[in-house]
Amino acid sequence: MLDQFGRTIDYMRISLTDRCNLCCKYCMPETGVEQLGRKDMLSYEEIIRLAKIFAGLGIKKIKLTGGEPLIKLNICHLIAELKSIPQIEQVTITTNGILLPKMAKDLISAGIDGFNISLDTLDREKFHQLTRHDQLSNVIQGIDTLLALNCENIKINCVPIEEVNKDQLVAIAGFAQKHPISVRFIELMPIGMAHDFTAIEKTTIVSMLQKKYGKSFPWSGHLGNGPATYYSFPRFKGKIGFIEAMHNKFCTTCNRIRLTANGFLKLCLQYDKGVDLKDLLRNQKNDEDIRAVIEQNIYKKPQEHHFNDDSVVEGQDLRKMFQVGG
Ligand code: SAM
Ligand code: SF4
Repeated sequence: MLDQFGRTIDYMRISLTDRCNLCCKYCMPETGVEQLGRKDMLSYEEIIRLAKIFAGLGIKKIKLTGGEPLIKLNICHLIAELKSIPQIEQVTITTNGILLPKMAKDLISAGIDGFNISLDTLDREKFHQLTRHDQLSNVIQGIDTLLALNCENIKINCVPIEEVNKDQLVAIAGFAQKHPISVRFIELMPIGMAHDFTAIEKTTIVSMLQKKYGKSFPWSGHLGNGPATYYSFPRFKGKIGFIEAMHNKFCTTCNRIRLTANGFLKLCLQYDKGVDLKDLLRNQKNDEDIRAVIEQNIYKKPQEHHFNDDSVVEGQDLRKMFQVGG
């Protein structure tokens, strides 16, 4: 469907949980996290019912996220059900990869169309410090498992941060040299815990990569659901992408909405504008009523974020990234 600014909204990120088996410093506080109770989260039945309504309104692609989506029991059942909705063309997942060695095969059998794996460093100690868990080897094994299964849609998402991984970016880009994997550098957004950290700009990263890998060329093809701009490097099997929500704002072409684990339809990453769909589901509203509310809300999706403008404070969402899903 179209919103009031004529943007086609066809992509939805569904957060399955606010819990996680890691605790990345720029995403989740170490203590004092108030987690949702089991009953506060949407059940799979509720998610599937909503997904059918959203599909009827034009959503074609779904990304499962969290918290960590792979800690949810029976996620393969959910994936298969979402895949069986006729209008849904693609169901993909964003994961920290810890559980992929065990689950990759079943996820692929359930019909998942692609994996975004978040990986910010290849240094074991730095990984431990950043995520507060010494589990880098599981992530690497997870990527190897996907490659061994000939999975064709693998992306690695890395958030470049001065205080965390500046010396790791060249090595992470190396995945795209050796494998048909896209490595995307995602600009840090000033949300929640991220206020304590400093983003690294694309120009800095490109020049580091060119020093190691040679001259890059813009690549105009399209990969995935998002606003990444891609580059190819000599003899690389995969592409290098950049998603710059701050320095190269893409709100005019934003095609996405988000559903939080507790059923809030969120219309823009920065703002709390949206509607509590769990409330409607659990108050016996019929599909037609819910559809009408969703339609009215999507129509009113905010025009743009103002993360770059400190004077705009009204209506900001206080949710942290693990509560939204990225
Ligand atoms: N746990 C899963 C994972 O890590 O992929 C899914 C949820 S996580 C919130 C989704 C993505 O958001 C991750 O790639 C993470 O690096 C990214 N992220 C978290 N905080 C961010 C921030 N402030 N700015 C940009 N990306 C962020
Ligand atoms: Fe968990 Fe993903 Fe947030 Fe890290 S980025 S704490 S893995 S939700």
